[in-house]
Amino acid sequence: MVFRDPPDGFAILIDITQYHAVGGNSRFWRTLMAEYLTIIGGGLAGSEAAWQAAQRGVAVRLFEMRPGRHTPAHVSDQLAELVCSNSLGSVLIDRAPGLLKEEMRRLGSLIIEMAESEGVRVPAGGALAVDRERFAEGVTARLVAHPNIKIVREEVRDVPSDGATIIATGPLTSDALAQSIAALTGEDHLYFYDALAPIVEADSIDMSKAYRASRYDRGESEEGDYINCPLTEAEYERFVDALLAAERVVPREFEALDKADSYFEGCLPIEVIASRGREALAYGPMRPVGLRNPHTGKRPYAVVQLRQDNVAGSLYNLVGFQTSLKWGAQQAVLSLIPGLEEAEWLRMGQMHRNTFINSPSLLHPTMQFRARDDLFFAGQIVGAEGYAGNAATGLLAGINAARLLAGQPAITLPPTTMLGALCHYVTHAEPKSFQPMKANFGILPPLEPPVRNKRERYTAYSERALADLAPFLAMLTPQPEAAL
Ligand SMILES: Cc1cc2nc3c(=O)[nH]c(=O)nc-3n(C[C@H](O)[C@H](O)[C@H](O)COP(=O)(O)OP(=O)(O)OC[C@H]3O[C@@H](n4cnc5c(N)ncnc54)[C@H](O)[C@@H]3O)c2cc1C
Repeated sequence: MVFRDPPDGFAILIDITQYHAVGGNSRFWRTLMAEYLTIIGGGLAGSEAAWQAAQRGVAVRLFEMRPGRHTPAHVSDQLAELVCSNSLGSVLIDRAPGLLKEEMRRLGSLIIEMAESEGVRVPAGGALAVDRERFAEGVTARLVAHPNIKIVREEVRDVPSDGATIIATGPLTSDALAQSIAALTGEDHLYFYDALAPIVEADSIDMSKAYRASRYDRGESEEGDYINCPLTEAEYERFVDALLAAERVVPREFEALDKADSYFEGCLPIEVIASRGREALAYGPMRPVGLRNPHTGKRPYAVVQLRQDNVAGSLYNLVGFQTSLKWGAQQAVLSLIPGLEEAEWLRMGQMHRNTFINSPSLLHPTMQFRARDDLFFAGQIVGAEGYAGNAATGLLAGINAARLLAGQPAITLPPTTMLGALCHYVTHAEPKSFQPMKANFGILPPLEPPVRNKRERYTAYSERALADLAPFLAMLTPQPEAAL
């Protein structure tokens, strides 16, 4: 019986009887099996993990179930597909997401390198937004071309019982594997909802009502990076009335668990925000500050912002407009937005499931499973939120899996760094009330002495983080020859 499928050029068939005969834990077998790393899931975390391990000389088997088996959200067969927003968040170094990206950049992140590359990045003010197709194609091409990586297009249905493994199957982990994970962790699946924002064709936006501008003119292009649809107070009231009355999607049975009312707080559907108070949207995703309307010379009562979604500039997404309304109802409500009356919708908003494990009771901040040091988890499934945060936990898991295979101790990054803080949070939060967390300054240890001014405090957090990361950089930087 073949125990494992060895990497190409490593033609050894391992017989399970021999494995037991010499003792499964013997150094010989451990060394033999440690020849390569299995990564399950070719999303943001799995792709980054594969790159990091491969760059350190590890032979990687990256399992991705698409295109043979699809998730309810992915639409392509590319690795690292961005399923909703095309923005990876702020790049400003004194903002938490910007600090995280700077740390990733210094640690040699493939995801950040690709997102920042020419022909992939699209203008988005102080944010790092990408043409989602070019981004995913670029990551896929780099992984396919890497001599240490073999990509296997197969669903993994069971957690491998041994051998270095990273599970990075994301919020839409296939049912079979989710069951296997639940059996391993001894806990039930945890589900709750998230929602996708709609995408519109740029040509169908009525620019005699909409206008281009960046908030407070802080964009990269002179004309303004965003398209803005302004609403008067009467138009806003009419929109909120229609939104609250519109028909929502009824959750499917498998999703209707005890967390059915929970969403990522930073990704709330607009109808949920509106139900919290009539003005909630005007102070949330529809806030008009810094967006004077050139058609009237006045600040509108509320604004819907649209962000460029592809390099060609032919697609725009409605910023912060995730929604779970039924598609017909959605079109009717969105057509009340001035400028979008005749809009051509490329994609409507959607509900989706989120699966994550109870990391505080299961994982070390190295991303290792507590009960098995050669098993790692990374990405959304550990409860890290946000594209960059998911990729970043993959980055650490990839580095630590490579270190494990090289006989080196796994690294715990200082909690004063943004990545260290994120890993610390998801592995040390209160298990009973654990919810996913994104990069934010609130999870960093306080500054000593405290800094009262907010801007100065954020700058101090960033300076401390990068100073504390510095000693790790030399140790964690792969040697060029290892990648070959
Ligand atoms: C609909 C939707 C909208 C979202 N919107 C946003 C957003 O706007 N911004 C944001 O920051 N985050 C958003 N998220 C969260 C988002 O999923 C993560 O930020 C990010 O994609 C997670 O990265 P990941 O690598 O953990 O998982 P993914 O990127 O989902 O990658 C997991 C991969 O594993 C594969 N897979 C699953 N099961 C198996 C298996 N058994 N065997 C082999 N392969 C398997 C999947 O096909 C997938 O390619 C959204 C999630 C969903 C589902």
